[in-house]
Amino acid sequence: MKSFTCARNALTIAISNPQLRYFSAAGTQSYRGPLDGSAPLASPMQNEIEWLTTFFQQSKNVLVLTGAGISTSSGIPDYRGPNGSYKRGHKPMTHSEFMTSESSRKRFWARSMVGWQNVSDATPNNAHFALAKLEAAGRCAGVITQNVDRLHFKAGSTNVIDLHGRVDQVRCQCCKKPMPRNEWQYAMTSANASFMENMKQMQKEKKLQLDSAAAKNTNLRADGDAELNLEDYSMINVPSCGSCGGILKLDVVMFGDNVPADLVGRAYEHVDRCDSLLVVGTSLEVFSAYRFVRRAHQNSAKIAIVNYGETRAERDKLASIVFKSDANCAELLHEVANQVVGYK
Ligand SMILES: [Zn+2]
Repeated sequence: MKSFTCARNALTIAISNPQLRYFSAAGTQSYRGPLDGSAPLASPMQNEIEWLTTFFQQSKNVLVLTGAGISTSSGIPDYRGPNGSYKRGHKPMTHSEFMTSESSRKRFWARSMVGWQNVSDATPNNAHFALAKLEAAGRCAGVITQNVDRLHFKAGSTNVIDLHGRVDQVRCQCCKKPMPRNEWQYAMTSANASFMENMKQMQKEKKLQLDSAAAKNTNLRADGDAELNLEDYSMINVPSCGSCGGILKLDVVMFGDNVPADLVGRAYEHVDRCDSLLVVGTSLEVFSAYRFVRRAHQNSAKIAIVNYGETRAERDKLASIVFKSDANCAELLHEVANQVVGYK
């Protein structure tokens, strides 16, 4: 029988019993602690801090896989969460629609031009900082992220695989030359000055809500796409690549496109080296990320999950899952990093 030892109170928990393996949101009725019948810890969250701290302490090489849930505290909306854009009927543009339709590209860039500033201004939260702190201390081997917001990079993490690309860069689809998003934004806003004035006026009149930190009805999407619902985008001017005249695209993997093979290969190398995988803020519904969890499971790595709501890995009852928490990942990881690395 495998066991998971909680060092600080010498609590040994049999993890082969599914009744003892899962934690739920702190304070909810489904919380099951204390697990050994002893006096309760200070709070359900305290128990989860102990478990996850032990997970790091007992691992030699922890890899972290993150999704939209880690960035919602930074004001970046998610797709599938309780207030996610999919629940409100949002359908992202596909790669082939973008590449084959000029009118679709005008619509895409008009919306992206309006939403960019809010995404650009987003700052990392305690979850991003905690992972950067763990990496700097040699306790986290790296991060594979499905997010395109670059907040791991902004927090100081260096070994990051941006699985689905990055929103702070555009790339010519012909000559492959990259361009910083800020430079592209300047070119776009210069070419569409009166349109941008109209959009600013709409924000002033509260007809357009882009401040997503607390707004359930934000018009902003995770990739900086602002829902405008205009009838006509034909007036939008979209510059071409200055080098070859090709189509410029946000440097992200759009729906219907594939993650570049070299990135997938590098991600698998990370997974094959790790003895533990921590999943944060993702329901794992997208297979391009879930395949790495399955690989870790096949390698018999331990898997810990911090996500609000059930994940695909739990539905599939992967036996490698040793810990699950529905807690706020920013609060939990902040405390765990302090326990593992030390308070400063
Ligand atoms: Zn080009």
